[in-house]
Amino acid sequence: MTTQTLPSYIDPARVGPWGMFLEQLERVEPHLGPLAEWLDTLRHPKRCLIVDVPVRMDDGRIRHFEGFRVQHNLSRGPGKGGVRFHPDVTLSEVMALSAWMTVKNAAVNLPYGGAKGGVKVNPAELSRPELERLTRRYTSEIGSIIGPDRDIPAPDVNTNEQIMAWMMDTYSINQGSTQTGVVTGKPISMGGSLGRKDATGRGCYVVAREAMKRLGIAMEGARVAIQGFGNVGNAAARIFHDAGATIVAIQDVAGTIYNKGGIDPHALGRFLGGNPRALLDYPAAEAIANADFWGVDCDILLPAALEKQITEANADRIKARLIVEGANGPTTPLAEDILLGKGCTVLPDVLANAGGVTVSYFEWVQNASSFFWTEKDINDRLDRVLSEAFEGIWQVAASRRVNLRTATYITACSRVLEARALRGLYP
Ligand code: GLU
Repeated sequence: MTTQTLPSYIDPARVGPWGMFLEQLERVEPHLGPLAEWLDTLRHPKRCLIVDVPVRMDDGRIRHFEGFRVQHNLSRGPGKGGVRFHPDVTLSEVMALSAWMTVKNAAVNLPYGGAKGGVKVNPAELSRPELERLTRRYTSEIGSIIGPDRDIPAPDVNTNEQIMAWMMDTYSINQGSTQTGVVTGKPISMGGSLGRKDATGRGCYVVAREAMKRLGIAMEGARVAIQGFGNVGNAAARIFHDAGATIVAIQDVAGTIYNKGGIDPHALGRFLGGNPRALLDYPAAEAIANADFWGVDCDILLPAALEKQITEANADRIKARLIVEGANGPTTPLAEDILLGKGCTVLPDVLANAGGVTVSYFEWVQNASSFFWTEKDINDRLDRVLSEAFEGIWQVAASRRVNLRTATYITACSRVLEARALRGLYP
C-alpha cells in the first residue's frame, strides 16, 4: 500500500482496517484486465459523513458521541450496509466495512452499492431510554443521505431489530410518511422479513456446505468451533448442529467453552437466556483458556465476532481445514497466507456472511411491493442465491488458479468497475 492511495483524512500511521481492504485490492489488481484502470475508484470512498450525536443522559448531563455513515460506492445501486455501535468504531473501520459491503453485494449480485454506519459508543453502558435517544439523534443526523432508494441501513454488531424500529420511526417522522424500506432487519410486525434474523448464520452454513461437498468433508459429525455467540454465531451453531455437525467449542465475551462430544446450541441458548456473561457457568462443557480456542481440534472454524481475530500470532495453531468468515474482516492478509500455506480453505467474509444482506434485499423488495413471502420461500431463495454465487466463484478460483478471496474480489470488482466504466465520469 502506498500512502499516495490514502485519502489525506486517514492518518498513515493509523490506517486500521482500511489498510487491510487496500491490501486485498492490491491482490486483485493484476486479475482485472482493462477494468483495472478504474480500480482507484474503490480506493476512494464516494462519501463519508461524520456527525456529532449529542445525547441527554439520564443524570441530566449531555454527552457527545461520534457517528459515521460512509457510502463507499453507489455504481450498482443505492448504498446498503449495517450500523455498528461499539466503543472501537473509527472512520477507518467504517470505511473498510462499507467497502466490504460494496464487494459483498456485488459478489452475490444484489443491485446495491456498499455503505456502513457506526457510532463510537458502548451500548451496554447506556440505559434503554439513552440508547433510544442516541439512535434517534444519529438517524436524524444521517437522514440527509439515507432513504429507501439512497442508502438502506441494517443491523450489525450491537444493533438489533428494536434499533431498526427506532431508526425507521425517526426517519419516517422527519419525512412525514411511513417509510418501511429505509432500513432492513426490522421487527416482523412492522415490515421485517421472516428469516432475516438467522439469515447470516444460515448463509454461513450454505456456503460451508457447498465447500465441504467439494473438499470431501462430511457434514455428519464435522467438528465446528465458533467464535462469537451473537446473532451470527448463535444461528450458525443451531443450523450446523441440526444438520448433523458437532459444535465442539464456543468463544464469546465471557470466555471459551469446549466439549469434544458436542455442545447443544439450543440448550446453551436457553441456558444463557440473553445473558452472554453466563457462558462459563454452562454445565455441559468445560471452560478453557481463550488462547486455546485457536488450537482446538476441529474441521471447521467459524469466526463470527470482530475484525483481526486470526493473525500471525495464532494462525499457525489452527487445525481446521475450512475457515468460514461469519464476521467481517476476521483474518489479516498475512494470517490468510499462513492458513493457505497449510492447505486450509478460507471462505471469505464477502461471500460467507452475505446471507444477511441477501435477506435484507428480500425484505426491501417485500417492502417496496407490500407483498410478503413465506419463510420457506425466503430460505429457499437464500440457498439458491448463495449456492449459485459460490459455484461461480469456485469456478473462477479454479480457472484463474487463485484463492477464494481473490476469486470473490475478481467477480465482485469486475461487476462494480464495469458499471463504473459504463456510467462514465460526470462532467
Ligand atoms: N451488517 C450485515 C453485514 O455486514 C448486514 C448488512 C445489511 O443487511 O444491509 O453484511
